[in-house]
Amino acid sequence: MRGILSLLIILIMVIVAVKVYSQPDYPEATWNPADPGNYLSSNRGREDVRWFIIHVAEGSYGGTINWFKNPKARVSAHFVINEAGTHLTQMVRIKDIAWHAGNSLYNRYSVGIEIAGYVGSTIWPDTLYKNLAKLAVWLHENYNVALVWVEGVAPPSPLQSSGIIGHIQVPDPSNPRVGGGRSHHTDPGSTFNWIKFMNYVRELYTSLHGLERLNVTIKIVSLSGSPISGITVRIEGEGESYLLHTDSEGRINLKLNPGEYRVRIEKDGVKYDERRMYVVSDAEVCIALPVESGAASSSTLVLTFLLFLAVFIFAYLITGMLNR
Ligand SMILES: [Zn+2]
Repeated sequence: MRGILSLLIILIMVIVAVKVYSQPDYPEATWNPADPGNYLSSNRGREDVRWFIIHVAEGSYGGTINWFKNPKARVSAHFVINEAGTHLTQMVRIKDIAWHAGNSLYNRYSVGIEIAGYVGSTIWPDTLYKNLAKLAVWLHENYNVALVWVEGVAPPSPLQSSGIIGHIQVPDPSNPRVGGGRSHHTDPGSTFNWIKFMNYVRELYTSLHGLERLNVTIKIVSLSGSPISGITVRIEGEGESYLLHTDSEGRINLKLNPGEYRVRIEKDGVKYDERRMYVVSDAEVCIALPVESGAASSSTLVLTFLLFLAVFIFAYLITGMLNR
């Protein structure tokens, strides 16, 4: 009798374990695992997940799921969503590292989603944007993903910032001026409407947290990561306008309402860069410019001055000696 009872308990425990293991991390998704050879098993925690990377699959929902289950693929994403936005499958656990960005460091610190459809041609319905926004807000609430989208190539290191980006914005690891990862992918492409998507993110986030002023830090660095101090940053949008200068750490700090802004970076009236930014939660944004850092260029100036001074003194002494 006791034997049967313990057998029964073991059986129940096994059933519970299998049930738990077949549950997705994201409650709105269906769990359908990718082939274990298509991702890296890991132990990532809340702090490790900093970026939400959006892809377009260049294929159908079913075709993409089958590809990630095929051991020949050697690629994967955590999530796949259908064109209509009505079906969402989770294929890789968030603790594990999916291979989607064409940049191993960005893979290490991100969650990726493939949207069924084709770059430059698919027009997705509102349901797609709404359900994508729901997942983005869930990632923000449970992990370290800031709800901010900044146009252009993301910083060389994923640890310099966090946010939502498209694959086209992932820096090429060997040339961080260029986006799209190692193979310069262009997804999600021109038909993906970032503003519509971020409008839904804002709508959902403010329905949960109310409308509050956000703490936003913008850090301007060179591609090698050194801060650029004393550079002018103009921020305009949502009826507000600011003109600020970066401090010695290349930062500006400000309070903004959630919404869409234009960030213009200039020095001595010369425009270096201009990007759209849509911010919904507190955020630390990092913008890397392909220029020498302020610190480096001012030290070059000092060196040039010292060199001229040395030459001048040398010439003065020589003429003095000759006149004697
Ligand atoms: Zn992609």
